Amino acid sequence: MSTLTGGSYPPHLDDAPEKDRLALAIKDWSIANGFAVRPPPAIASNDAGILAMTAPVTLFPSPFPKSCFAEAKAIQTKYNELYARISQDEEYLGGLVKQVAGGDDFIANLWNIHLRVKEEGYVQNLALGLFRSDYMVHQDGDTLQIKQVEFNTIASSFGGLSEKTSLLHKHLAKVEYPLLKEPISRSSLGDLPDNKSAERLAGGLAAAFRAYGKSTLGHPTCVLFIVQDGERNIFDQRHLEYALQSSDTDPIAVFRLPFSQVLNHTSIAPSSPGRQLLYHPPHNPSLTFEVAVAYLRSAYDPSDFPTASSWEARYQLERSAAIVCPTILTHLAGMKKVQQELATPAAHAQDQEPGEQATTAPSALRRFIHDEASYTALHRTFTNIYPLDAITPAGREARRLATDPDACQRYVMKPQREGGGNNFYRSAIPQRLREIPEEHWGSYILMEIITPPPVANTILRNGALEQGGVICELGVYGTCLWDQKTGEVVHNEESGYLLRTKGDQSEEGGVAAGFGSMDSCRLV
Ligand code: ADP
Ligand code: MG
Ligand code: MG
Repeated sequence: MSTLTGGSYPPHLDDAPEKDRLALAIKDWSIANGFAVRPPPAIASNDAGILAMTAPVTLFPSPFPKSCFAEAKAIQTKYNELYARISQDEEYLGGLVKQVAGGDDFIANLWNIHLRVKEEGYVQNLALGLFRSDYMVHQDGDTLQIKQVEFNTIASSFGGLSEKTSLLHKHLAKVEYPLLKEPISRSSLGDLPDNKSAERLAGGLAAAFRAYGKSTLGHPTCVLFIVQDGERNIFDQRHLEYALQSSDTDPIAVFRLPFSQVLNHTSIAPSSPGRQLLYHPPHNPSLTFEVAVAYLRSAYDPSDFPTASSWEARYQLERSAAIVCPTILTHLAGMKKVQQELATPAAHAQDQEPGEQATTAPSALRRFIHDEASYTALHRTFTNIYPLDAITPAGREARRLATDPDACQRYVMKPQREGGGNNFYRSAIPQRLREIPEEHWGSYILMEIITPPPVANTILRNGALEQGGVICELGVYGTCLWDQKTGEVVHNEESGYLLRTKGDQSEEGGVAAGFGSMDSCRLV
């Protein structure tokens, strides 16, 4: 049953010439407009940096409920503020880190970097978040309600390409869909919302760049994108860079530096109490820039830290005067454990059975949100999430559900990781739990699986078409700049959206991980 796929939209194309024409239009528009990724090494073994390939994308914008879209956009600035406050609550985060660190060296190491910097004292109080809150639509009878999948505080990607996806679908709506054998006119398609995600995310970076101010050492200032080696999703990042550089009157200097090269090409200004972060461009040793903003599109996965010096690189950034996006505390605020705490009612520990709908009983959310309207609005977007500790009744009951071969079918188990491909679904949960010592189960959280109303669409991936049932995940970007000491919020904006769509047989939906595709919303 579906309330979204009324009529014949999106169409199921059977006619080969018609499909080929649409696919060709998409392929050409994509390359012509930088809606692209780098090819995998197997294709580009000796790539001289000259190859690009189209990003996976749906042939049609998927139908998405208008009210859900509006709700997700409207709540973003509240989410920004919530996560800014969590980032400021070191004691609270420290307590959660303690709960997961036993089974999670990566989180423990991040926390230790924070402690080292705290000991010598932070020299930068401003913190910048380029966030993305992800949702799926949950159907309960006739009611459609967004439910949060996760909240990303580090390296939230696809803002650059998402703006292009919206433009591509608008182009097809004008030029190609009206030529189909069963034509779709632009007017019958209705509302294809504008999406300025690249521009708005760049706006967040620019706000931090301006707030940093001029170099007191007399250097030109810059924004440094700190990236992964061999990044294939480079154009997504490039679109943000170009947006920062494009102003005729006030262009911002932007550089890219692999995280593995941070210690080779940056330094802390010698004999300056300000601990300014200096960037020395490798191509011209006579140049020195002062880094106003260090924007991490890396350093979120253990594989980014192959050696002890990787941790020294992260330490160098954190202790510097650069505004780091995100700081360690903001990175840790994005732990799934935090999301679970916010969603788990405090009363749960005593008397609520896992599997019941989350009630409005006080949760950790109360610690951060005091006005009733904001509390209710945020709380509505939560689904049930449980700890897997051995102490609370909720944790113990969740352990029973996670190890039961039938009950586990309704859940996904998540570690404190980012970037896709880390979760355990349904039957894989008990299997995974058997592999790890029981005292480390608390490093994971258990979350109910959200099953959105079915939608059909066709995905164009690697030149091939995949037609069938799909699941859509909406992401809303947010940019926020705040003072860690005073709590003052300097900039707080909703910053555009992302729609990702995957085949309904796939558990994971990451585009970069090869499971999902880019999409945009047709509001219904
Ligand atoms: P990551 O930080 O690695 O992206 P996510 O929590 O977003 O981790 O999980 C990855 C993917 O798994 C999501 O994009 C979504 O497709 C799927 N997923 C995660 N949680 C749920 C859930 N509660 N219900 C349905 N699907 C989920
Ligand atoms: Mg994530
Ligand atoms: Mg995700």
